[in-house]
Amino acid sequence: MSEIPPDAEARRAVAPVICYPDETLPLPDLALYAAALAEGKVTETHVAAPRDATAFRVPAGAFFRIVSLEGPQVGDLNLWNADDLSERFYSGKTRALHRTHVTTGDRLWSSFPSLRPMATIVADSLDWYGTDPHGARVHDVIGTRCDPYTGNLLSGTQYHHCCHSNLTRALADATGLALAEAEVHVHDVLNVFMCTGFTRETGQYMMKASPVRPGDHLTFFAEIDLLGALSACPGGDCSAEHSSDAARCHPLRIEVLTPPPGALGGWVPPPPNGYDGSHGR
Ligand SMILES: [Zn+2]
Repeated sequence: MSEIPPDAEARRAVAPVICYPDETLPLPDLALYAAALAEGKVTETHVAAPRDATAFRVPAGAFFRIVSLEGPQVGDLNLWNADDLSERFYSGKTRALHRTHVTTGDRLWSSFPSLRPMATIVADSLDWYGTDPHGARVHDVIGTRCDPYTGNLLSGTQYHHCCHSNLTRALADATGLALAEAEVHVHDVLNVFMCTGFTRETGQYMMKASPVRPGDHLTFFAEIDLLGALSACPGGDCSAEHSSDAARCHPLRIEVLTPPPGALGGWVPPPPNGYDGSHGR
């Protein structure tokens, strides 16, 4: 280890500031969304089978709800602009703008150059969980997704039902793209229902058994036309491991809810980001 400077404690004691104070973030009209959701009817359902994924489409102005069925299960969510796969969920910027774990009122932001809300969380049945004694919280945007490359790197395995592969197959099936073409559009996820954090001593990514139980849900408002894919992670409740068939796994349901015409008043989808794109040239 390097030599500790004499003012080490003073340097550590400097007060932190929030990187992106959220006072200037455009706020969603949660009351409007809640009223529309209350009148919404389930118009479509999809099921992600255990260790598999399903794709789904949600028009702007509708809702989608991810529901736990049968037993504790974590889901890995990807979102794309339904008309342009290059605009996709940006987990890193969502983390920077909101927090490491998202809940009601937080939004899922899209990649550059659009950087706009793709979806807004409107209901979260696990919002009571908060921060547990291990510093863990639920619904993270800090993990990436379980994938066969990391499995191969760490244990030499050829496992085909990691969330990365499940999402790749689901996107290929939904779009008609070949697997290799679809794979490049799969991105870092929202870990729905997953309970995670970082160890205080070593800063390592940690997970623990999800507190989710059948009937729990996370509900989103679609700000733009969305293509989504959800994988029922092979880790099940993610209490032990997640790149094998060892864990008990359960399905997850996605309900698309459509509010009646006029329920959103004059609401319109957010436009792409206003930066002019000239980058100083
Ligand atoms: Zn996974």
